[in-house]
Parts: sequence; structure tokens; C-alpha cells
Amino acid sequence: MNLAEFIIRVESFNANVNIPLIRKAYEFSDKAHAGQKRSSGEPFIEHCLQVAFILAEQHMDSATIAAGLVHDVVEDTELTIEDVRHEFSDEIAELVDGVTKIGSVQFASREEQQVEYFRKMLLTMSRDIRVILIKLADRLHNMRTLQHLPSEKQQYIAQETHDVYCPLAHRFGINKVKTELEDLSLKYLEPEIYVDLVKKVKERREERDAYIQDLVEPIQRALAESKIEATVYGRAKHLDSIYRKTRIRKVPFDEIFDLFAIRIIVNSERDCYHTLGILHTMWKPISDRFHDYIANPKPNGYRSLHTTVVGPHNKMIEIQIRTHQMHYIAENGIAAHWLYKEGRQQMSKDDRQMVWLRDVLEWQKDMTNPSEFLEYLKIDLYTEDIFVYTPNGKLIHLPRGATPLDFAFQVHSEVGVHCAGSKVNGRLVPLSTELKTADFVEIITNPNRTPSHDWLKLVKTSRARAKIKKWLKQTGFEQSVLLGKQIIERKLKGLRLKMPGDDVLQEVAEKLGRKTVESLYAAISEGAVTGREVVGLIAPEEEEKHPEGFVGKFIERVRGSKGIKIHGMDNMMFRFAGCCQPIPGDDIVGFITRGRGVTIHQANCPSSVYVQTQFPERKIDVSWDTGKDQSFMVELELVVEDRKNVLRDLTQAMSDADTNVRAAEMHMGDTTAIGKFVVEVTSLSHLNRIFDKVRKVKGVISVFRTKGKEQVED
Ligand code: MN
Repeated sequence: MNLAEFIIRVESFNANVNIPLIRKAYEFSDKAHAGQKRSSGEPFIEHCLQVAFILAEQHMDSATIAAGLVHDVVEDTELTIEDVRHEFSDEIAELVDGVTKIGSVQFASREEQQVEYFRKMLLTMSRDIRVILIKLADRLHNMRTLQHLPSEKQQYIAQETHDVYCPLAHRFGINKVKTELEDLSLKYLEPEIYVDLVKKVKERREERDAYIQDLVEPIQRALAESKIEATVYGRAKHLDSIYRKTRIRKVPFDEIFDLFAIRIIVNSERDCYHTLGILHTMWKPISDRFHDYIANPKPNGYRSLHTTVVGPHNKMIEIQIRTHQMHYIAENGIAAHWLYKEGRQQMSKDDRQMVWLRDVLEWQKDMTNPSEFLEYLKIDLYTEDIFVYTPNGKLIHLPRGATPLDFAFQVHSEVGVHCAGSKVNGRLVPLSTELKTADFVEIITNPNRTPSHDWLKLVKTSRARAKIKKWLKQTGFEQSVLLGKQIIERKLKGLRLKMPGDDVLQEVAEKLGRKTVESLYAAISEGAVTGREVVGLIAPEEEEKHPEGFVGKFIERVRGSKGIKIHGMDNMMFRFAGCCQPIPGDDIVGFITRGRGVTIHQANCPSSVYVQTQFPERKIDVSWDTGKDQSFMVELELVVEDRKNVLRDLTQAMSDADTNVRAAEMHMGDTTAIGKFVVEVTSLSHLNRIFDKVRKVKGVISVFRTKGKEQVED
């Protein structure tokens, strides 16, 4: 294609195209790529022309076509993005920059890298969605000319196209590009199947064409009688969709080929319904195969009427009815925004695809686990949708497998957060129920009901998941702030000091590297800043006193702050209760205590039983999360006969059980002695080994772990 030819063809799609700009972009690109050749041996500029032409076919605006012409200049020549900016405009420079950036991200098979890849891609696209249109055009031409590359490269590019570009094209409704990309990927990824399908399709072609022709004529006649102007034609299914139906859904090839597809394009929405009526009087419709995507468009903007009728010779005929405008959108999706809108740069913020893109970017911020983001992104990209109704008859789109809880979050975050139950088609159902298309869903809310971790298992959509996580995180933060504040109040109270004013606290926060008083409080409860540091800044002259006994103090100090997972909160400060000193293997519970974060007790410790019954709302789920070399202090009490060397024999026994004695005390009675030992153990079974050894020491009457005394948690 030469420039003159190119311009004539571009003008046929967009009469208002800015020809001087196109000419200038061509010359700029031609000069920059001078001497470069594609693997096919063609001059490089041919690729640029083809990419720009694919964009022109989609009726894109002049800036996008120009950017298509210069899209490889930064990547493949000496020129920079600033050269493009200087020569053209910020707009074109941004488009080229976006395309270059996407191109520089390496697609990888490892999950974490894939996530990063998608993230970067979505970020780049979100700046200007035309970037993906240019990138898709670029990829389409590269796929069309893939035979010139070495086979290893073919595989890589075809795989990336299949995994990334096809789903994106689908999500943005760019159907024409999507189907061609899918077929081309299949050609390289499954060459044998591809060749076989091409052959089969060819064999059946004549027979099919004849049958279709026999259908088209009566339809055209009937529509003409009703004065409906229409284009009627047989529609070939693309190879990849046949492949997927035969391979994945196990539909026999003949069955797919006995299904004929017709498309009817008319002038108005009214004509669509009128045409439908006429067809249904000609042939019997199959009742559950009718879809009104005009009244209920698909999330990617697709609109059409779909029906299946039983045609001549009892063959099933799938019919799509749509207007020219609907057809254009069905083929070009998001690109349709630029149709007849020369010069328009921004899409509406409410556009569904932009909303989707923004949502995805929002979610990924809240997702800490890369595979989770990928999984949910894939669900959003690939899964077929279902649609259900609100009690007001509003249509809500959800991925297959979605539950009433997904629905609740889709309706409104507040409805989701306070979702207490659900009715489907008037009947109460569990929140885990899988919704089906056309269900009427009603959510029962209760202001006291709030999300829990279990909810994460009930939802399918990334939106619901992200909102639940966000809520859990936020409330965790609020709890941390409250606890941090109480720690300081308590410390100051102990020193008979009052809480200082906000300005003093702000100053203290800044001195300790925190922006706000709230984040200071949170840091205290998380243990990142100690209460002592804060009090030291508020009242430097005061010294803290530690009135605790030796064992308690010892345990507090040595135990540190590792080994427990507190569900729903990161880095929450916790301590082990002095009364029962839990060790790994013990059943444990946590209680939120005023001023000291979370206290970990043994589940059957008397004070924990007391708190559980009196203050159930303070209970929090915790579990062990110990490292390999982590040990815990436990206090043992022994009653022994008072004899010579008994202390020596006891410590020997303990060291035989591979434990360190960290502190020991003996109180002598008349004939017996009571010993207290603080030993280091790694787990409950380790402790039991110690018991076994100690019990064998001569003169030992009893040995037990110091049991909790009932103590009221405040
Ligand atoms: Mn290119």
C-alpha cells in the first residue's frame, strides 16, 4: 500500500480525516524507519501503514491513525518520545508512549510477573484507552505476518496473544479484532487442529452456502413485504469458537455444522423487533434461546436480538438482528466511541469499560496476593456473565457462579457491608447460593451486621472481595488507633499525668516520624513505636517503673512479639497472658484488652473462660504462627523432697530434655521444697518431654505448669 492509496482508503472510512496530519505522520515514520525491513523482507513502513489502516477501518480519529503510523518510532529508531511530542502534539506523544510502554513489558508465565504485566498494561491503558486499540492493531498485523518469524517466537507471540490480547479485546468488545486474533493464535498454538478445521469447513461449504441461500431469500421477501429495509446474510462461525465448542464443550463437529447462523441488519430498533416478529411467524422459535440484548446490553456494550428457530428440514437456525449502529459497536466495541467524534479526546467517565478499568485498578491496590489478583482478573476477563434483577427490576450483571453477596456489593457497598440475608425469587436462601440468569434477588440488610473473613469464601467478584478486604483492613486500623490511644492514656495515668492536647500529640507524632496522631496510635498498638518512647517525649522527666515480679517480667521481656497470627489485623500488638503462658500446641484465644493490644490465653484458662462469657465481643480469632527456631518461656512449679543436690539433678534433667532453664527459684519448707522454673520450650510436645524427664528425678513429688489464676482482664 502506498501513501496515496492509503489516504483514499482512510477517507472512505472517515471523510473528515486530517490529511495533512496523516501525510506528515507517514513522512516522519518513513524517514525514521528508512532502511529497516520486516522479517518478511518488506520495508518497515508497510507495517506502520497496515496498523494505521486497521485503526482507520475502526473509524478511529486522525490522532489515533497518526499515532498508528509512528507507533514504532520510539521503540525501533533513534528518535525519542520528545521528538514525537515536538513534531506532533502531547496527545500523539502520549499515545505512542503508551504503546511503547506496553511493548516493553515482558509477558511471563510466572504468576507474580503476569500480575505485574497486567497491572502495568491496565495502568497504561487507563491513561488513554486508544493505546490498547493501537496495540491491538499492531498485534493483529504482527499475527497476520507471523509466518516470517522463527517458530520459537511464533509460539511465544501466539501464546501471549491468546492469554492477554484476546481477553482484552473481548472485554472491550472489539469483536472483529478478537475473532481474527483467536483464529490466528489457534493456527500457531494448535496447527494440526487448525488445518483439520479449515479442511472440514471447506468440505461442508457448498452444502452450507446452498442451505443459507435458501433461507436468506424467503427472509428478504418477507421483510420487503413489510417495508423493512434489511441486509440479510449467512454468518460463518470462526474457527476458534468451533474448536472450543468441540474440544472443551465436547459438542460433536456435525452438531455445530448443523447449526446455521444468519444475521439481519436493519435501520432502526423498531425494525429489529418487527423483524423478530416476522421470523417467529415463519419458523417456530425455541423458547429458551431468545435473548434481548437490546433492552439488556452485555457489559461490553453489545446489543442485538438473538433467537433460534427450527428452519427447513428441521435444522436449527441462530439469528441475530441488529441495527447498523449496533453492528458497528458489536464489531468494534470501545472503538465506537470515536466514530463520528473527530477531535474528541476523552471518553465519558461513566462509560462501562472505563468503570471496569478503574475498578480493576482500584481492586489491585487492595490485593496483596498476586495470584489472587490474577485469578480475579481472569474471572472478570473470561467468565460469561449472568444477569439478575433487583426488586425494582434493574438488571445487574455478574460473572457465572456469583452469589447474593456479590450481588449485594454490586448494588451498593453499604448494602454489601450490612448484608444479613437474601431472598431469591421470593424465597430465603443462604448467602452462598449460586445465582442464575433472570433470578430476582433481594438483600436483607441489618445495620449491625458487618463483614467477616468467612465472607471472602462466599464471593466470586473482585469487587465484592476487594470491598470486604478493605472493610476488614479499615476496621482493623480503627481498632489499632483506639488501642494505641488507650495504651498511652494508661501509661500517663500510671504516672498521674493527663493526656496532653492535640497540638502536643501532633508534635510527638512528627518527632516519631508519623504524619498524624492517629497513625502514631496505630503504630503504638502495632508495636512499631513503644508507649515508653511517646511518654518520654510527653514527659521527659518521668521515669517508668516496673513493679512486676521477676518471672512475669522475665517472660514479658523474652517472649517478644512473634508467633501469633491475629486474624483480620496485621501487626497488632499482642502479649501472652501471664496467667497461663500458652505455648504452641495449646488451644488459644485472643482478647482485645484495653491498653495492651491483644492478650493471648489458653482456651481453657480460667480467666479466658471468664472473659469469654462476660465480654464475648472482645474475643478475637488467633492461631499459632511460629518460626522454626522460636521458643517460648513456660513457668513450671515443682514439689520435691528436700534433699541434697536436688536442684542440680532437676536442672540436669531439664537440660537432658534439650531445654534451657532461664530462671529458677526454690522455697524450702520443712521436708519439701517448692521450685519455680522458667524454661524455654518450642511446643507442647517438647514440654511433655521435659515433664517425663523431670518426673524421673528422685524425690520429685509433683510437677505442673503454672495454672492460670482467675484474673479479670481490663
Ligand atoms: Mn509495531
